[in-house]
Amino acid sequence: MSQKLNLETLCVQAGWTPKKGEPRVLPIYQSTTFKYDTSEQMARLFDLEDSGYFYTRLQNPTNDAVAAKIAALEGGVAAMLTSSGQAANFYAIFNICQAGDHFVCSSAIYGGTFNLFAVTLKKLGIEVTFISPDASEEEINAAFKPNTKALFGETISNPSLEVLDIEKFARVAHKNGVPLIVDNTFPTPINCRPFEWGADIVVHSTTKYMDGHATCVGGCIIDSGNFDWDKYADKFPGLCTPDESYHGLTYTKAFGKGAYITKATAQLMRDLGSIQSPQNAFLLNIGLETLHLRMPRHCSNAQKVAEYLSNNDKVAWVNYCGLPDNKYYELAKKYMPNGSCGVISFGLKGGRDESIKFMDSLKFVAIVTHVADARTCVLHPASHTHRQLSDEQLIEAGVRPDLIRLSVGIENIDDIIADIEQALNA
Ligand SMILES: *Cc1c(COP(=O)(O)O)cnc(C)c1O
Repeated sequence: MSQKLNLETLCVQAGWTPKKGEPRVLPIYQSTTFKYDTSEQMARLFDLEDSGYFYTRLQNPTNDAVAAKIAALEGGVAAMLTSSGQAANFYAIFNICQAGDHFVCSSAIYGGTFNLFAVTLKKLGIEVTFISPDASEEEINAAFKPNTKALFGETISNPSLEVLDIEKFARVAHKNGVPLIVDNTFPTPINCRPFEWGADIVVHSTTKYMDGHATCVGGCIIDSGNFDWDKYADKFPGLCTPDESYHGLTYTKAFGKGAYITKATAQLMRDLGSIQSPQNAFLLNIGLETLHLRMPRHCSNAQKVAEYLSNNDKVAWVNYCGLPDNKYYELAKKYMPNGSCGVISFGLKGGRDESIKFMDSLKFVAIVTHVADARTCVLHPASHTHRQLSDEQLIEAGVRPDLIRLSVGIENIDDIIADIEQALNA
């Protein structure tokens, strides 16, 4: 298509363009394998000399169509789906880091990502240094070493809701000759497109707003195509020197701007196999078709709930970057002028016990270990995800004992506030 389409149209139309007589709706290619006429045709696929499908662990047409839609939404050149957000983050780093390498990461990130980076990658010989998202350029710069290969952060961190200064992080990354990788799960490309601010790679847990209905765990990696790997070829031998497992092919020479995603597919997916099932990709695509309608509603509902809570006597504090007194209000306005996300955190004056009583009194707002789907839900980290920690340890980990994480859904706002109000009064 030559016409430059807007995000709303891309949500509905991108990725799947049927030809004459083909299904209008993206089909689920529920097939592990694909047929060829000659042995030679198949051999060329295995040598990456032709592109085509042969085995779903490497590529599947349903998955590719959905990845292409997400690439279009983020403004990237190529994308791949993964089985989960965790797999996306692992591949994004492991595609350019190996044993002996190092990367720098904002400390305001999802707990699962923190464990992956601090514990599991360490066992593979990859070291990480965490820096505050509020650190100055000089402080971030000071964390870099000769073997540093990437800088990583979350646009809006889950669950601490800190906003990343993407331009600042991109400047430091590029000054050091490494890519900036941004986890853009919470705002989604509807509210923020990190490539426009200098990020090089974007990752998603599609499990959250992209799916939007809490049906499928999934992830995605998108490449902007902007990072010049060959300029820093000594840092990125995996991309810029011959791959012996592909007859000496060099990804940057053979695939240009597609090098990073092709390597992640041909090498990491081939060997580690965390593919998204085509069935899940189909459901994810249906979610994406309404992402542009759902995100504004999540944001306007969350804004009203945050304002309601701020004005309630029983509430001790509210953290939402849409509130003018929030530390990240100005950054959020800059990077997400149309709204950030639907997740809020707050505490009650009565502390931990009051928080538990409040949550148990909610009617349709449910207690679940999830965020960012159509249904409003709550979680009390001190009682659930962080329940092994004492109050002192909780505060050290940045999770106050009274913190309630509220993921505001797309129900009627008056009903959401009424449920919260009756629970506060219970
Ligand atoms: C949930 C989440 C992840 C992990 O994704 P899964 O799909 O649960 O594996 C990573 N990053 C962020 C910001 C998340 O919210």
